[in-house]
Amino acid sequence: MKIGTKCVQEGYVPKDGEPRVLPIYQSTTFKYNTAESLGDLFDLKKPGYFYTRLANPTSGFVEKKIAELEGGVGCMLTASGQSANLAAILNIAQSGDHIVCSNSIYGGTFNLISVSLKKMGIDTTFIDPTSDYDTICSAIKPNTRLIFGETLSNPTLTVLDIENFAKAAHDNHIPLIVDNTFPTPINCRPIEWGADIVTHASTKYMDGHGTIVMGAIIDSGNFDWTKGNFPELTEPDPSYHGLIYTETFGKAAYITKCVTAVMRDLGISPSPFNSFLLNMGLETLHLRMKRHNDNGIAVAKYLKNHPKVMWVSYPGLEDNPYYDLAQKYLKEGQSGVVSFGVKGGKEKAMKVINNFKMIYIVTHVATLTSSCLHPASTTHRQLSDEQLKEAGILPELIRLSIGIEDIDDIIADLDQALSLI
Ligand SMILES: *Cc1c(COP(=O)(O)O)cnc(C)c1O
Repeated sequence: MKIGTKCVQEGYVPKDGEPRVLPIYQSTTFKYNTAESLGDLFDLKKPGYFYTRLANPTSGFVEKKIAELEGGVGCMLTASGQSANLAAILNIAQSGDHIVCSNSIYGGTFNLISVSLKKMGIDTTFIDPTSDYDTICSAIKPNTRLIFGETLSNPTLTVLDIENFAKAAHDNHIPLIVDNTFPTPINCRPIEWGADIVTHASTKYMDGHGTIVMGAIIDSGNFDWTKGNFPELTEPDPSYHGLIYTETFGKAAYITKCVTAVMRDLGISPSPFNSFLLNMGLETLHLRMKRHNDNGIAVAKYLKNHPKVMWVSYPGLEDNPYYDLAQKYLKEGQSGVVSFGVKGGKEKAMKVINNFKMIYIVTHVATLTSSCLHPASTTHRQLSDEQLKEAGILPELIRLSIGIEDIDDIIADLDQALSLI
């Protein structure tokens, strides 16, 4: 199946006489006839459902679809994008361990790693996403457990050289985890370029309708845990009668432990109803992403030629520093997120977004309605102009999240808003 067909057909496949549409199994628990058969599930001797914190049929069908879309052996859905990244890291890192991480990542993930994980005893070295092979390798220490980065970063739109990061990771016997939220598997499948684990804030384009907060972790099944230093996967787990994940679950060792240990203990599970909504979003993902890509590049080109615009940041523009990487990793398109700077600084930027009639001011990104955000007056309003520049958030910066409306109406709104300043 091609990726567009997988969006529609993968996951839930009804048997004879069953509902055509994925049913919502809104049940915390599942019934068994004998104590023995339920006991086997607790010992991980056979697969099955017993408690929705660990697994649920509705979520399970969506996990299967997402694993197919990314090309992995398994997927675990989580209650949010934040908890997906948390679980992906905690599955193989603990107090005393170290992480190498791109410094161009989502602010929430940056806080998670630099503040909360640090308090839990996990230290991180942040490196530039443009680092060459030797720089990446020199950041890796004997206790480094993984490298983390974002394919197309939120909000700075840097493009990760996945092959380069994967090679550095693998030569040092550690996995590469890539947050693929902005591209989605339609625009990039990081596993095909060497990433070992992929994460998502499904809250964004995957849902796309702005209705749910959810996350996903996908295991490529390609990383050989026995060659590195991952005793939690390669040595007996006392909480499952000495079971060894790599021996019992083979290629699915990482994602199985993520469910049976991390999900069991942290309880970051999604609601079955949210999984149902996510599935509906995924059914049109290929159509929506194509439109976001087309509208995104059209808006970037329009702004580029506008006399009142100072600069435009979009990796699909030829003068963008990430253009070559985008042509390699994001060939299908670079999504609908476009940043630009208005001549006249902070005050003019605020005027422009106040002038918009159809492009709403919201903190969210990556949904089917066009929206905008002026970080200097909202998310970063406590910073002075000097501090904003240091943080790379210029006072004139407007972040647009271009939706799937008709491009003529989007450009008309930009046009009228800019004409009034
Ligand atoms: C939004 C986002 C997250 C966090 O997701 P939530 O669902 O808001 O918890 C993580 N990574 C990226 C790249 C994001 O854009």
